[in-house]
Amino acid sequence: MFDTSTRTIVIVGAQWGDEGKGKLVDVLAERADWVVRYQGGANAGHTVHVGDESTVLHQVPSGILHPGVRCAIGNGVVLDPEGMFEEVDGLVATGVDVAGRLYLSDRAHLVMPYHKLVDKESAASKAIGTTGRGIGPAYEDKVARRGIRVLDLRHPARLRVLVEQGTEHANQILSGFGSNKRADAAFTLAALERIAPRLLAIAEDVGLAISRAQKQGAAVLLEGAQGSLLDVDHGTYPFVTSSNTTAGGAAVGVGISPRSIDAALGVVKAYTTRVGAGPLPTEFDAAMSQQVRTLGNEFGATTGRPRRCGWFDAVVVRYAVRVNGLTGLAITKLDVLDTLERIGLCVGFRVGGEVMTEFPGDLADLEGIEPVYEWFDGWGTSTAEARSLADLPTAARAYLDRIQALVECPAQYVSVGTRRDQIIGLV
Ligand code: GDP
Repeated sequence: MFDTSTRTIVIVGAQWGDEGKGKLVDVLAERADWVVRYQGGANAGHTVHVGDESTVLHQVPSGILHPGVRCAIGNGVVLDPEGMFEEVDGLVATGVDVAGRLYLSDRAHLVMPYHKLVDKESAASKAIGTTGRGIGPAYEDKVARRGIRVLDLRHPARLRVLVEQGTEHANQILSGFGSNKRADAAFTLAALERIAPRLLAIAEDVGLAISRAQKQGAAVLLEGAQGSLLDVDHGTYPFVTSSNTTAGGAAVGVGISPRSIDAALGVVKAYTTRVGAGPLPTEFDAAMSQQVRTLGNEFGATTGRPRRCGWFDAVVVRYAVRVNGLTGLAITKLDVLDTLERIGLCVGFRVGGEVMTEFPGDLADLEGIEPVYEWFDGWGTSTAEARSLADLPTAARAYLDRIQALVECPAQYVSVGTRRDQIIGLV
C-alpha cells in the first residue's frame, strides 16, 4: 500500500474491535519506517502470529516485531508504564531488539495504580464491559485536567502534588461506591520514582518526530486500537471506549496534521463480533454464536472473554467507511465461514414498514429493529490456501463483491488465516 504518494496510512477497526488489525499492521509494517499508536491503552490486545510463535501486544506497537522499524506511542494513548515494560522485557527475552526503537510521547497520560483500583471497584464500569485496566478513569482525569503526563516525571515536586490530588479524587470516588479500599499516594509515588528513569529515557515530542519523518518522506503507519463503533463520539454510546478510535483520532493522538494522512485502511471481519454489552443488530442465536465462536476462536486477546458473534452488517461498515473516510478495506477471517451452508449479509434494519440504512446515533432507534438479510450460498471448501482472488470459490467472491458494493469501499486485502502469509493482496 505504501507507494510514492501514499506515505502515511492509518489502520482502524471498522466494527467493534478485534477485527485482526494486528495482522494487517504486521503485514504493512514490513514496508514502514514508523509504526505509531494513537489512542487506547493496555485494554487493546493485538495478536500477532509469526511462525509458530504468537505474541499479544497491548501497548507496544506491533511494528516492533520488524527489525529496523521505529515504534512510537502517541500522546493520545494512556500508558500503563509497568505493563509496557513487562511487554518490552518479554520481547527482549524472545530475542527482539527493542533498543533505540521505541519512543513515547512526553505528553501521553499515565495510568496510575489508583485508576486501576477505581476501575476494578466501579460497579458501573462493569456494566459497560471495561477490561479493568484503569483506562476509563485515566481518560476521565485527562479531560478533567487532573491527569499526570510523562513529562511531569521530570518535575518531582509537581509530580508529588499531582499524585496527591489524583489520589484524593480517587478516594472520594471509592468512598462514593461504598468501597473500603483506598489508594495511597506514597505507594504511587514510589512506583513512579522507580520507573521514571526508564520512561524518561524513551520520552520525546513524538508529534515533532513524526512530522519531521513525514517531511523526509518516511512511510508512517498509524495503528488504531479497538473499533470505530467503540469510538467515544461515533460509537454505540455509552457502550464505547474512552477515546476516539476513528481515523480523525490519529491526527490528534499523534500530533500531526490530518492533511498528512494519505490513506485509511479499515479492517473488518467477514462477519461481526463484539465484546460486552451494547447493540449488535446481527447477533446470532446461542447455537450459531457458539459455532462461529469456536470456528473463529472468538475469545478476547486481553480478557479471554467470549465474543458475541453475528453476520456481517453492511449498515455498520458503511457508516465506518464514512466516519473514517476509508480508502480501502481489509476483510479478515473469510476462512472462518468456509464450512457454513449459507451466509447472511445485513443490508438494512427494518423498523415498522421502513428500512433504515444509516446507523443511528440514538440506541433507542435500534430497539425492535429487524435486520434485513441477503443470503449467500456457502462455498463448502477451504479458502486457507488462496493467495489470489482467482483461488477463491465463486460463491466467496460473490459475497466479497457484494460487501464492497454495499459499503462503497474497495477491498485491498482479504485474509484467510492467522498466518502472515495467509492473505490476498489486491493492491
Ligand atoms: P485486533 O485487535 O484487531 O488485532 O484483533 P485480535 O488480535 O484481537 O483478533 C484477531 C484474531 O484473529 C487473532 O487471533 C488473529 O490471529 C486472528 N486472525 C486475523 N486474521 C485472521 C484470518 O484471516 N483468519 C483467521 N482464522 N484468524 C485471523
